Amino acid sequence: MDGKPRASAWRKLAVSFKYCQSCGFPLKKDRQGGGTEADGSISIKYCSMCYKQGKFLTPSSIDSPQKMQAFCIDQMKSAGYNGLIAWLATRSIPRLERWRNH
Ligand SMILES: [Zn+2]
Repeated sequence: MDGKPRASAWRKLAVSFKYCQSCGFPLKKDRQGGGTEADGSISIKYCSMCYKQGKFLTPSSIDSPQKMQAFCIDQMKSAGYNGLIAWLATRSIPRLERWRNH
């Protein structure tokens, strides 16, 4: 179909993120609706635990998906989840967009 704005296709792609592209958390479960960009708008990619005002909240020492996964497992364990649940919830981290180039 000629003349149809291509932006709509991008928008469809953009809203298809179901999980935070940093930690894998389901975005619809995010109590704050997602992280925030530098201009204060809600991020379509990252959750409020990972991303605030355009910056990642995770420590800068976390520079690989393996470190991120270990970090999230620790966080979940200290929040009372057992290790297996934590592992299941974080095992997709290496495939998320933030980590794909590592
Ligand atoms: Zn996240």
